[in-house]
Amino acid sequence: MFALKTFPSPNCHEFINSGMERCKYCSITIDPQVANAAVELQDKINRSCNEASLSRNLAGAMWVGFFLRFVPFVGLVGSVINADRLHCCTRMAHLLAD
Ligand SMILES: [Zn+2]
Repeated sequence: MFALKTFPSPNCHEFINSGMERCKYCSITIDPQVANAAVELQDKINRSCNEASLSRNLAGAMWVGFFLRFVPFVGLVGSVINADRLHCCTRMAHLLAD
């Protein structure tokens, strides 16, 4: 089954989908091979981020009960999400540098 996937434009890094011939943000022409490679890379990043979140959740579970009585829950969730986003960006930078 054909499904559109999103990946960052090689030029401007805005997320576009794999069915496009041209980036809608910077108008660069997208080579289908480059698009496929970028989609695979993005899948890899998504998977590693999911794995990272999972292990973080398991490791973090024992701390939740401890912090819950001191830290407002919303603040805790917000900081976890920010940490994940930062982590994903770092991974992406490494993968793109390869
Ligand atoms: Zn672009």
